[in-house]
Amino acid sequence: MTGYRAKKRLGQNFLKSSIIIDKIIEYINPQHDETIIEIGSGRGALTLPLAKSGAKLIAVEYDRDLIGYLRKLLSKFDNVELINGDFLEYIPKVTKYKLVGNLPFNISSPVIEWAVRNHHNIYACYLMMQKEVVERLCSSPGSKDWSPLAIMTKIYFDITNLLSISPKYFNPSPKVTSSLVKLVPNKIKIKTDIRLFEKVIRCSFHQRRKTLLNNLVPSIINTAEEAKNIFNKMELPTNTRAEQLTIENFINLTDLLVNNNNLSNNTN
Ligand code: SAH
Repeated sequence: MTGYRAKKRLGQNFLKSSIIIDKIIEYINPQHDETIIEIGSGRGALTLPLAKSGAKLIAVEYDRDLIGYLRKLLSKFDNVELINGDFLEYIPKVTKYKLVGNLPFNISSPVIEWAVRNHHNIYACYLMMQKEVVERLCSSPGSKDWSPLAIMTKIYFDITNLLSISPKYFNPSPKVTSSLVKLVPNKIKIKTDIRLFEKVIRCSFHQRRKTLLNNLVPSIINTAEEAKNIFNKMELPTNTRAEQLTIENFINLTDLLVNNNNLSNNTN
């Protein structure tokens, strides 16, 4: 594709190394009887080998300037549906699919949130993102990277950092190293009220310099007194910070809030 200028604002860093492309495809392991949704086809670096696998492929590309090229490239495949649009607004009509893509850097968190929302339909995700974002997703309690996004992702998926890819394998080269992350739905069944759980964690991390208690009172728990009682039951010191809590702690906290009727009215 000559004469095309990559658009920075759309995070266009096209894969140019066939060795890396082959490796990613090997990880995705496309099967002819499965559906794959690709985010951001670009110039088709991953789209073409995915199409060749025979899988039912839905390729979503935002940039209208690339659609003509892609349509031509994919013209002989009747297993490919090309959609010109914003992936974040895309609602799949299919259930059970693999979600893949070398993501534009600016939409990596929204894509993870999309995957969390649609977890029940996802068979696996293979997503290339900025290395630091993947490290954040893989973080554990006690780390400064432990966050609502990491927690919500871990609630639904097993997360594996598969490989790091140097900027030199892209054209144009991004400023940062990329990582390929794999998300596979886990078998954990959460019995807690998940909407409240999400509210609790978002509120707990609201201002990181504050203690957990000061983040929760009064938007989730009415008074400091009630919060201290709950912390006591959980054997947590009153100056605990959200970063220190495990997923089990947050589940426990949510359940105690529901059972003890300690919720502030703001949570309704
Ligand atoms: N998969 C290709 C392109 C990666 S660059 C490759 O690996 O070479 C990221 C691609 O995502 C670009 O083509 C960009 O136009 C597209 N893109 C950016 N924002 C998007 C969005 N919101 N929805 C769908 N595609 C998007």
